[in-house]
Amino acid sequence: MAETGYIELGPIRPPSEAQSLLVRVTRNCPWNHCEFCHTYKGERFSFRPVEEIKKDIDQVAEICDQIRKLSWTLGYAGNINRQVLNQVYRQSARHDSGWQNVIGWLYFGGQQVFLQDANTLMVKTADLAEILTYLKSRFPFIERITSYGRARTLAKKTVDELKELRQAGLSRIHIGMESGYDPLLEYMKKGVTAKEQVQAGQNVVQAGISLCEYVMPGLGGTRWWREHAVETARVLNQINPDFIRFRTLYVRQDMPLHEKVARGEFERPPDDAIMREIRLFIETLEGIQSTIVSDHILNLLEEIQGKLPEDKDSMLAVIDRYLALPDEERLRYRVGRRMGHYRSLDDLGEPAARRRIQEIIEEARSSGKNGPRSPEEIEKEVYRMMENYI
Ligand code: SF4
Repeated sequence: MAETGYIELGPIRPPSEAQSLLVRVTRNCPWNHCEFCHTYKGERFSFRPVEEIKKDIDQVAEICDQIRKLSWTLGYAGNINRQVLNQVYRQSARHDSGWQNVIGWLYFGGQQVFLQDANTLMVKTADLAEILTYLKSRFPFIERITSYGRARTLAKKTVDELKELRQAGLSRIHIGMESGYDPLLEYMKKGVTAKEQVQAGQNVVQAGISLCEYVMPGLGGTRWWREHAVETARVLNQINPDFIRFRTLYVRQDMPLHEKVARGEFERPPDDAIMREIRLFIETLEGIQSTIVSDHILNLLEEIQGKLPEDKDSMLAVIDRYLALPDEERLRYRVGRRMGHYRSLDDLGEPAARRRIQEIIEEARSSGKNGPRSPEEIEKEVYRMMENYI
């Protein structure tokens, strides 16, 4: 089996694009100033030439052919099953990210594509339409092509331009909205206003492109949590996106925001306070039919999920159920969640995990340098566990 060439890939994709083929259209982030973001720090933004992207798409097609041949050789008649997946992963020559990208995509059905990096919509409309058209011509079975887009860029795109992109194949845009509260957007150097957020979202919705808005619980800190919750909901009420997704704040040391934390200028609210913030946020959402999704591993309660307005009460009930638990039970849930054991509050009833988590809590309590750790110190330890996920 002949080796194929290199396919360039960017560093991230949204959680909902785990089964998507990744196609890098631009490199890094053209803005790159957000205080809470570490992903592209130190990297320069650049456009990739259309011809170079088409070559990557051709490489993907070549790898697809080789994987299908491998499937025939293994006796699976071109099907991409678990055995073919394992075989590709086992062969050291295939251990490059391009092959893993393609085999994973084929294994999950080969129907979704995500265009990287942070703001593909910076590309001229005609060029992006050409890339989309080429992608669909090489892989006619693709059903969904999605991308990140910055609100500031999308506020400037006309609805007609966005319609052109939809017709060429762009089916969903993910916007990292984070907040709709202007003083907070400015403080976090987001480089966009609430008004632009509304304009951007409305442009995408009017163009008939599916819209997913990412909100960042915790970003308002202990100072602005209330304004953050209420104003973000008010912006979304004017947009009515298809999806609202949570991605809870965690402040890594390599984020500019960490300096503000170290100076005592910014304080991330504890998880329980963030639950109250999300409750207020959901309560304030009115007159929209969006689906709320909490699928990011950093979120405490994955089960806050449902369609507005009919599931609003059940989503609030999940939060109330968590907040009504005794202190020790909430701590157990937080530790279990941050260790990757728990995905829902019902998991608290699982005896083996419960015993293990209780042991870890007891160990953490008794292992302080100067005697037993205080509840605040334990809270910090639980928070640090989130680092494993970003
Ligand atoms: S616009 Fe997005 S990718 Fe760019 S710095 Fe801000 S959060 Fe990070």
